[in-house]
Amino acid sequence: MKKHKKIILKNLKLRRIRNNLRLCIINAVYSQEIQLLSERAKIYWKNGVLASENVLKPNLEEKEKARTILHNIEKLNRQLNTSICKCPSCQSYEKDMIFYPPWGSWVCSDCYFAYHEDWEGELVQRISRKDF
Ligand SMILES: [Zn+2]
Repeated sequence: MKKHKKIILKNLKLRRIRNNLRLCIINAVYSQEIQLLSERAKIYWKNGVLASENVLKPNLEEKEKARTILHNIEKLNRQLNTSICKCPSCQSYEKDMIFYPPWGSWVCSDCYFAYHEDWEGELVQRISRKDF
């Protein structure tokens, strides 16, 4: 998506439903991340002792599994931060969202207008320099 796109709800009941759905999705993602972090912690903590200080250090297979878990957590975070569920800048899930092409993600209307002025300023400078 390359264009700026606004999704604005004026009806209070619809806003409340939207916000609750966003919160459900955000909580589901955070629950998944906590589960993944717990799985990762089991690899590095054995019998209440950090594995690097323990005789039972993680083997290569366990280290690869821990790396995969970390990759999956980062992927979930990236997907949530580019989604329409919350603003990656102010973390709000209750505001109307606008797609912000320079970031490739949705931002709330307050943050959009704060950043958009900078973005337009940069665009005008690039046009005047013929820097494309
Ligand atoms: Zn924001």
